[in-house]
Amino acid sequence: MEKKKIEKKYKWPKRGEEDRVCQFCGRKDGLIRKYGLNMCRQCFREKASKLGFKKYN
Ligand SMILES: [Zn+2]
Repeated sequence: MEKKKIEKKYKWPKRGEEDRVCQFCGRKDGLIRKYGLNMCRQCFREKASKLGFKKYN
C-alpha cells in the first residue's frame, strides 16, 4: 500500500500539454498547429520565409 502513496505523490507529466506550446519559444498563445506546425505566430513569421512560405500581406 505504501507504493500507491508514492505513486500519487509523484507528479506525472501531463500528456499533450507540451505539444500545445511553440516548439521554438514555448509560447502558448497564437499557436499554429496547422500543417503539423507547432509554433506561435511570432515564430511562424520568423521561420515562414525559411520554410518556404510566402507572405501574403
Ligand atoms: Zn514561438
